[in-house]
Amino acid sequence: MVPKSNIHSHTTFVDGRDTAEEMVLAALRLGFHTLGFSEHGHADYDDCSMTPAREHAYRAEILRLKAKYAGQIHLLLGYEHDWLSPPNFEGYEYVIESIHYAPAGGELFSIDRSREDLQQAVERLFGSDPYAMCRTYFSLVCESCRRTRADVLGHIELVMKFNERRDLFDDADPRYLRAALEAADCAAESGKLVEINTGAVARGYRTRPYPGEAMLRRLAERGARVILTSDCHDSRVLDCGFADAAALAKACGFRTAWQYRGPQLEEYLL
Ligand SMILES: [Zn+2]
Ligand SMILES: [Zn+2]
Repeated sequence: MVPKSNIHSHTTFVDGRDTAEEMVLAALRLGFHTLGFSEHGHADYDDCSMTPAREHAYRAEILRLKAKYAGQIHLLLGYEHDWLSPPNFEGYEYVIESIHYAPAGGELFSIDRSREDLQQAVERLFGSDPYAMCRTYFSLVCESCRRTRADVLGHIELVMKFNERRDLFDDADPRYLRAALEAADCAAESGKLVEINTGAVARGYRTRPYPGEAMLRRLAERGARVILTSDCHDSRVLDCGFADAAALAKACGFRTAWQYRGPQLEEYLL
């Protein structure tokens, strides 16, 4: 089954194409029962995050839409927290924990802003060793899994966003797999929902969602709970790749996945 919901959605409050209300209308057209907003919470090192003033306006707008569309669709006020920024969970119905930045050599580098940025960070900060960069990233994933109070772990294999063709590094290399599978173990142990995220498909960076097969198989073996999300930045692709993501999850050993129905979580057969 493919979910009629999505809880990873971005809007014009930061880098999305459409307003929150346009996203609601798209969700209604798709027959969704639940749409959650997860704008980027304030991080002073990230110009793709809300300022505190913008965050105030975002919360007010989602609450306005919740009232306006009550009875038609469940709308949830969430946010995507970047692991290195101060958490501010108060008043949110759920939180997605993501790692978009990592520290190295006394600075922060971006994992997902662009392929060029990531490649330059590998050269400048990791002596051109991409596996060292991946170890740094996945160790932060493990740390966040152990310590976060968030409900959902966002795109835990983000280092693969620009690497589907394996031209930055080889994701079958043991140096990569060791770190990635340890992160999968941490994610499963945390008991949090783990995203199968199709956002990079919608934006043309990948043809398949992430995590990929190796991490998904490990997550399934360890009894992790998964949630399909589209990390949507464009109302035209609110359910992008859900059918493929569900098929991939099944092929990797999952029989069920989870979704929000309003604020409640429910398990469903894939
Ligand atoms: Zn993200
Ligand atoms: Zn996102």
